[in-house]
Amino acid sequence: MYANVKGQLPGPLSKKYMEESAKYESGTTSQQAPIVWDSAQGVIITDVDGNKFIDLTSGVLVTNVGHCHPKLTAAIQRAAGRLMNCYDFPTPERVTLAKRLVEATPENLDRCFFTVTGSEATDSALRVVRRATGRHEILSFYGGFHGRSYGPMSVAGKTGTKRKFGPVVPGSILAPYPYCFRCPFKKKPESCGMFCLEFLDRVVEAQSTGDIAALIIEPYQGSSGFIFPPDGFLKKLEQWAKERDIIFILDEVQASFGRTGKLFALEWEGLRPNVLCLGKGIGSSVPAAAMLTETRLISALGPGEMSSTYGGNPVSSAAGLAVLDIIAEEKLPENALKVGAYMKERLQKVQEKSQILGDVRGRGLVIGLEIVKDRESIEPAPDITMEIIRRAAQEGVIMGRVAGNIIRVAPPLVITMEQAEEAVDILERVFAQF
Ligand code: PMP
Repeated sequence: MYANVKGQLPGPLSKKYMEESAKYESGTTSQQAPIVWDSAQGVIITDVDGNKFIDLTSGVLVTNVGHCHPKLTAAIQRAAGRLMNCYDFPTPERVTLAKRLVEATPENLDRCFFTVTGSEATDSALRVVRRATGRHEILSFYGGFHGRSYGPMSVAGKTGTKRKFGPVVPGSILAPYPYCFRCPFKKKPESCGMFCLEFLDRVVEAQSTGDIAALIIEPYQGSSGFIFPPDGFLKKLEQWAKERDIIFILDEVQASFGRTGKLFALEWEGLRPNVLCLGKGIGSSVPAAAMLTETRLISALGPGEMSSTYGGNPVSSAAGLAVLDIIAEEKLPENALKVGAYMKERLQKVQEKSQILGDVRGRGLVIGLEIVKDRESIEPAPDITMEIIRRAAQEGVIMGRVAGNIIRVAPPLVITMEQAEEAVDILERVFAQF
């Protein structure tokens, strides 16, 4: 038994901190399960009341190597005791991490720029493509999410992301995304022939001034609910962009570092983006992110034209190196595939008996559960979604919710079969109550 919850949640100490949070913090983030974390090891969270939970969030898909992995902790401690900041001077760690990332990604990506957050990485990508092409328009997709700062927010297609924040950066062009469970064209994936790809030229004709610099897309839509495009879509999109001299930015801030069962999600279809944005798993809890691109693009910017105070700092860089080692040594992509397949299969069995589990989808340890009022109407059911999250927490499983009615099952990639089995047993019991 990994999970162990005593009494009703939130426990007394969690309750106290949650009340203080409500009083003093911004209230703009979206805490869901009623606990306050105290510590975590691997995939097990301990809350401030001493309750233990299985983590199916990885803290928003960040902690790929597991919470407080001893090797990562030791690397951070070593780095913190030696050098914590020297701003823009190269350090052995930063240079080595850049080299390893360049070597691990497609050949055309030969330059690495470090940032701190994913938003900063995507924002940097937008800056580079605008400068390199002299054009300003960016094509992105309904449901796409690339961060909250102004550049990424302006190209967002996720519902509500821009609400009342206008005017946004001009030049955003939005195209329908292949969300096959809720196809915007009401077509069926078996017979549509990827109509949304065909439709792209019409989107461009209707919206573009003829000044498109780039397109930006996630390998799967994370913040809109773990929505994977049909196989082959991304490769065809890459080809489409190439034929039109449109730069291809792939936003793997969430999808990389083993999460989908490959080190980088682009490996699934042999993609060769011109710009690759990384974040989250790169530091596996330490704030770090990066943008990889081609010399021909980045050379359009001169020295001092792009910088980030903490980007590539010695501690984050040491963490990034340790993360790469841990992923390779512990074969985490392979584990993500194996355990992910097991969890998905069992959850699909749960779906067979459930009226409210509309869709179970994903790859590796990215599993989305779409909660609906019933499987005929597939009407989203956000209230039931929240209730499932609360009841699962009460039983010892912590999960996150996005886009109102989608539950994210995304544990750290070190999760064992036994831990996965216990987590799914709990979910099976919870779903049986609805
Ligand atoms: N891109 C993607 C695909 C993301 O999922 C996120 C974060 N959810 C971001 C960018 C922004 O990252 P950050 O919150 O670190 O700025």
